[in-house]
Amino acid sequence: MLIFWSLVRNSVVLAVYLLFSVACFLTVHEHLRREYAGDITVKIGFELEYYPALFAKTLRFLCDFPIDYLIQGQHFLGNEYEAGAVYSGRPTEDAAVLQRYVEQTVAGMASGAYTYLAHPDLCNFVGDREIYREQMRRLCTSAKQLGCPLEVNFLGFMQHRCYPNQAFWQIAKEVGNDVVIGLDAHSPDAVLDQTTLGEMRAWIAAQGLTPLSEISLRDPHECACRMESAYGTEKTISD
Ligand SMILES: [Zn+2]
Repeated sequence: MLIFWSLVRNSVVLAVYLLFSVACFLTVHEHLRREYAGDITVKIGFELEYYPALFAKTLRFLCDFPIDYLIQGQHFLGNEYEAGAVYSGRPTEDAAVLQRYVEQTVAGMASGAYTYLAHPDLCNFVGDREIYREQMRRLCTSAKQLGCPLEVNFLGFMQHRCYPNQAFWQIAKEVGNDVVIGLDAHSPDAVLDQTTLGEMRAWIAAQGLTPLSEISLRDPHECACRMESAYGTEKTISD
């Protein structure tokens, strides 16, 4: 959230804080990548919103860092700082919010920058079930056409959040989407909790879904280059 706020508000202090935070995050991961080079392959992924007005600049900014892939996380609608930019996980009966969530998420997937979509069922629509099915079928169908796997999110499962949402995954099963498991670990104990992870694997199997064992990473730098040639070569991130 700080990323986009700092970009929009043109705040030097926050931009420096952001740069420092991203640099620290990636320095730690780079260190781990080198330390365990002989044992495991460490890929660095970065969960990123798709905010249309900021996406090209944000992508260019992040591409200066050694990021292997991006994960789309659509936590907010619009560009977050705008009026009406609601949190996707807030319960709502408003079909317009659900529709905006689907359209913005699909636009993000269509950018080609993201390797997969995190918690696609984050949008907490509690209104008409048929509307939910219709909209989420659009999302799932687009994801399939775009070759974008959908993530069953372990954090949501572990903390009993509104996702994973069984109604959503029934649609994904019908559409035939590729599925991945994402730990989304906010603390080390989440990585160690193999018992709950086993329960989630059983839950996924009960939905008739089989997570991918391997995934092809999309290089965000390639997408940045495409956007660069399409939109020009501005140099600043804060204008
Ligand atoms: Zn997220």
